[in-house]
Amino acid sequence: MKTPVYLDNHASTPLDPRALEAMLPYLTDKFGNAASRNHCFGWEAEAAVDEAREQVARLIHAASPKEIVFTSGATESDNLAIKGVVESYKEKGNHIVTCVTEHRAVLDTCKALARSGCAVTYLRVNRYGSLDLDRLREAITKQTVLITLMAANNEIGTIHPLKEIGRETKARGVLFHCDAAQAVGKIPIDVEEMGIDLLSISAHKMYGPKGIGALYVRAKNPKVRLSPMIDGGGHERGLRSGTLNVPGIVGFGKACEIACREMSGEAQRMAELRERLKDGLLSRLDEVSVNGHPTERLPGNLNISFAYVEGESLLMALKDIALSSGSACTSASLEPSHVLRALGMEDNLVHSSIRFGLGRFNGAEEIDYVVDRLVQEITRLRSLSPLYEARRREGRQGAERALKAEHIS
Ligand SMILES: *Cc1c(COP(=O)(O)O)cnc(C)c1O
Repeated sequence: MKTPVYLDNHASTPLDPRALEAMLPYLTDKFGNAASRNHCFGWEAEAAVDEAREQVARLIHAASPKEIVFTSGATESDNLAIKGVVESYKEKGNHIVTCVTEHRAVLDTCKALARSGCAVTYLRVNRYGSLDLDRLREAITKQTVLITLMAANNEIGTIHPLKEIGRETKARGVLFHCDAAQAVGKIPIDVEEMGIDLLSISAHKMYGPKGIGALYVRAKNPKVRLSPMIDGGGHERGLRSGTLNVPGIVGFGKACEIACREMSGEAQRMAELRERLKDGLLSRLDEVSVNGHPTERLPGNLNISFAYVEGESLLMALKDIALSSGSACTSASLEPSHVLRALGMEDNLVHSSIRFGLGRFNGAEEIDYVVDRLVQEITRLRSLSPLYEARRREGRQGAERALKAEHIS
């Protein structure tokens, strides 16, 4: 086993060697511009893009590859979907419904639109990060043009009931955009069955290269109208101008093809490793709590609060393991995660939280190593914490009192 161990697969995944291999010719000999119509270099590039478009479409069960628009990643896809719909459906209304636990790419886009006069409703979540569908129903008005809700959360892994949301939005004639950056390739996504009208995907979250992604845009029942964000040569049916990133697109397509084949077996293996990690930590440490939904969560996600331990200090001590804490590093200050806060957690517990993101290239040996190292460092840090010692004494005394009371009665 090699260190450092990478357990931050929600931030980015390593490139699958099979995706790299598919990309290499397009970084060397096959360098043509996919928009060049007059020679074989262009045709070769275009054919590769067409194949990748089919691979992406197949993974999410899109009715046609024409519904796939290549972008630079999920951030751009989220912007195009949300701003593009708002701009295009102005005459219908100016209201969007989203959720407090969304990714910044969605929240900040909504915030920007709110500054220019859009009304935004932010749905709250329960302590597991789950939505209340009745609240969603109540939030939709005659002015609502778009519901934007993620498939699976990037911090706590909670999966939203997409089919139910899709059914609701269809019944009300409202478009449904879904940021599925963490879900595509990890859990089954079917835009037809789930009634999704727009779907954001990012290649580097599913073992493809960085800087490439897609937006699925429904062409039928209903046909989604979208205003482009980038003007230019009219690439991607005018929705996203700019010379196509052919090697990136080929790697992304290959990653989708691999996911199609291997997703179900891999999900099973991820869930087993995740349980091994969770059981290892929970059996050897006290004062720990699991954040997110107990069952409706991504197979490779685990989020745990280790009370009385500062997450950032823990990560500093664990230089041999790549993890994320519940403190988001924005500028100079360490802001507590807006997702964990939305669950109703106290700030100090948020700062004690660690996100584990398991992926394709992790093995059981690594998990056992991570458990050992965490137990070691958490025990050491807690031994330096007067608060933890006080809590333990109190706990022991409390237990002794309870035991005495039992003897008396
Ligand atoms: C990573 C991520 C994004 C941003 O994707 P990029 O391709 O890096 O722009 C958006 N939404 C979610 C849920 C993510 O996990």
